[in-house]
Amino acid sequence: MTEHYDLLILGGGSGGIATANRAALHGARCALIEKSALGGACVNVGCVPKKLLWNAAHLRHCAELATDYGFAPLLGDFDWAANKHARDTYIGKLNERYATGLADNGVTVIAGHGRFADPHTIEVAGTRYEADHIVLATGSRPIRPDIPGAALGLTSDDFFALAEQPRRLAVVGAGYIAVELACVLRRLGSQVSLVMRGAHLLATFDPMLREGLMDSMTHAGVNLLAHRQVSGLRKAGTELTLLYEDGEGLCGLDSVIWAVGRAPNTDALDLDKTGIALGRGGIIETDSYQNTAVPGIYAIGDLTGRAALTPVAIAAGRRLADRLFGGQKDRHLDYDLIPTVVFSHPPIGSVGLSEPEARERHGNEAVTVYRTRFTPMSHAFNRSPPRTAMKLVTVGHEERVVGLHIIGEGADEMLQGFAVAIKMGATKKDLDDTLAIHPTSAEEVVTMR
Ligand SMILES: Cc1cc2nc3c(=O)[nH]c(=O)nc-3n(C[C@H](O)[C@H](O)[C@H](O)COP(=O)(O)OP(=O)(O)OC[C@H]3O[C@@H](n4cnc5c(N)ncnc54)[C@H](O)[C@@H]3O)c2cc1C
Repeated sequence: MTEHYDLLILGGGSGGIATANRAALHGARCALIEKSALGGACVNVGCVPKKLLWNAAHLRHCAELATDYGFAPLLGDFDWAANKHARDTYIGKLNERYATGLADNGVTVIAGHGRFADPHTIEVAGTRYEADHIVLATGSRPIRPDIPGAALGLTSDDFFALAEQPRRLAVVGAGYIAVELACVLRRLGSQVSLVMRGAHLLATFDPMLREGLMDSMTHAGVNLLAHRQVSGLRKAGTELTLLYEDGEGLCGLDSVIWAVGRAPNTDALDLDKTGIALGRGGIIETDSYQNTAVPGIYAIGDLTGRAALTPVAIAAGRRLADRLFGGQKDRHLDYDLIPTVVFSHPPIGSVGLSEPEARERHGNEAVTVYRTRFTPMSHAFNRSPPRTAMKLVTVGHEERVVGLHIIGEGADEMLQGFAVAIKMGATKKDLDDTLAIHPTSAEEVVTMR
């Protein structure tokens, strides 16, 4: 027998859970299909374990700083196993909390791998579930490069499962995941090389952030290796050697982490039974209302190839549920001005256009840029203090703020409030008219000249 629902959601990660809960609150009869742990990438192998490790690295940094303030040395060795146990316990509780939340809202959770039987029916382990509306939220997975020996390296998923801390490792990649893993392991005492194909990290970010980050990482002892074309990975005994196309290599490694991109989970859904054709790189294309090309089937989150961030998946899903079941006909996500943080050391916060993007979009004449660089006061007693850098990108006569970029301590917590103001159309004058909170680093955003 086929069970019928108003809404079926395939994938119980950030986007899927948010959609299910919101739709159920609007009174829809919902079922959510998840083949693994509830919470998806973010909770299990992404934002959450990453931030918990970042917190550990940050605490070490604070403890080191504390000696400048008169404390006796505070820290012993970092116990990876104890941290891993604490991380797993915390994540286990989050998994349970999601299950309880869904149950409380009346959402049926179906465990297993779902695939289409026809455009209105999904099959899980031989049982068929039918719905008027189907939301695809199956996320993405880390990929390995297609080179000999790639299986000897770890993906980010494997990294979070490690029972021991890698001691001499290479991270291959230049995006935010590569940066975050390299920084956190360095802060926790590992010898880290970051191997990248081009000249820069974080290619899409403002150059001030990229350059500041590369300086900080070099200063922290990360071995940044640019212009390296990796051609293979070899193991002899317990030692790994990363091979480059030019015949050179990096030897003496105990681990290699591939952070070379992610692929959408769209290849095992039997989409051919729906008429949905995959876009470039296997993504599912949607319009601005998350509609796919097939009526009644929608897609949200990482598999759409748009900004792959948890709050984006959640917001797209909630708005879709509001539109389908909450009578809000025009409700949809505006993908402009998405604030984002890179949990590097120091962290980066960025919203809106980079300076080069603003110049290209609005013309050189229209763009005015404000910058500042300073030593955060927490490092007042430090002999070689890290610097904080900020850049405001404005356009037009009224100097509307179209970009704000910060690298430095506290950037991660500073950005959210400013992102509200920028989304509301703040101008440089609005910032100038806002009183500073002193003494903070954030006050510099409203005092730039
Ligand atoms: C290392 C790392 C760090 C990150 N850090 C951040 C961060 O700091 N901030 C941030 O905003 N974002 C971060 N992200 C990105 C964030 O995790 C994703 O953007 C977010 O999880 C996407 O949500 P989603 O709903 O699209 O997919 P997911 O949350 O990945 O959920 C997809 C779910 O679908 C399930 N699934 C797949 N196929 C099927 C099937 N056929 N049947 C049943 N179930 C299926 C999967 O098991 C999974 O649970 C990070 C990602 C990684 C990998």
